[in-house]
Amino acid sequence: MCNSHSERARIKLKLQGGIILDQTGVKTDMPTFAIGVDLGGTNLRIAAVDQHGKVLEKITTGTEVTRGRDKVIHEMCMAIQELVAKFRSSGHLAGIGVGVPGIIDMQSGMLRESPNLPGWQDYPVKEEIEIRLGASVVLENDANAAALGEQWLGAASHVDDMCMITLGTGVGGGIVLQGRIWHGMTGMANELGHITVEPDGVPCGCGSFGCLEQYASATAVKRMAIEAVAKGEAPELGRAMNEDPEFSAKVVYQMSVQGDEPARNIFGVVGRAIGIVVADLVNIFNLPMYVIGGGVSSAWEAFAPSLLEEVRKRSFVYRATEPSSTTRGVSGTHVHDDSLPSRRTTIITRALLGSDAGLMGAARLPMIASAIKLPEQELKRA
Ligand SMILES: [Zn+2]
Repeated sequence: MCNSHSERARIKLKLQGGIILDQTGVKTDMPTFAIGVDLGGTNLRIAAVDQHGKVLEKITTGTEVTRGRDKVIHEMCMAIQELVAKFRSSGHLAGIGVGVPGIIDMQSGMLRESPNLPGWQDYPVKEEIEIRLGASVVLENDANAAALGEQWLGAASHVDDMCMITLGTGVGGGIVLQGRIWHGMTGMANELGHITVEPDGVPCGCGSFGCLEQYASATAVKRMAIEAVAKGEAPELGRAMNEDPEFSAKVVYQMSVQGDEPARNIFGVVGRAIGIVVADLVNIFNLPMYVIGGGVSSAWEAFAPSLLEEVRKRSFVYRATEPSSTTRGVSGTHVHDDSLPSRRTTIITRALLGSDAGLMGAARLPMIASAIKLPEQELKRA
């Protein structure tokens, strides 16, 4: 049934003579590049990236995703075509990778559900883009794409296996095994933000209670600050809240750095919640590296001590593989050092690529996909 979608796209692709991917039958001496798209909850970013991870050009559109999916998809495709036209004379286009927030069905290319993209529920994102471009697209969850980006070019670039937790408005996760994203059955794996950390905790948008997202996202930090103020426990936070109409998690972080006890306690909760989940992940996967990224990870100094304390307390696998004290910084946070034999130890560290992780990972998707699919595609053409 769902094959009819992809079949339609394939026929249109032929009819339109759209972008021809250079995966097949091309000279091998030209450099390869790919287009990565990061469709965030607030804006849309598109980049042409070469096979070494060098950004050739990046476009950030002012597109507000709330203005509707057709408008967003249209602008996305215009920007992709612009970049392809600009760089195709000097390199082979490996393909187009698109990272989207929400849970997706890999097989049908459907965005099943996205809290950040209202009106996109059960939307065939992959097909819509493919029809407009006349080229195949690799669709991926944005947190998975971010994990792949960090594994390719960021904090985990020296390991093949890693896990990343992305702390943003919500909390996402990605697991990369042997340089490839672990997808599970349908592509919905890695929802690390919805692992329970408090059995009877705060209700979550996913329908559960006490999810990591309710204690470690920017939204959660702000909520916990409001709760502390309401209880009369945080006078300084209350003052900041009254003075700043745009009071956010960032302000809570700044106050914790200045030594405000209630603000510090909030990041203690953040660290503990992440630590509970990381301890579980260490016990399950025994991976060499766990990377914490997303906007809230810039508060690393504020939550890392409680995070590491919690992991140490809860995971005997971690204790057996903990880096020696020489690889730890003064605050107990791990120092990232490529010269260390880190494959034998469990490293928990912050991400390095910042907000570019998802964009770089999206560009990486077609590069590794084409490496697998090449023989099959050549066969179909023959
Ligand atoms: Zn949840």
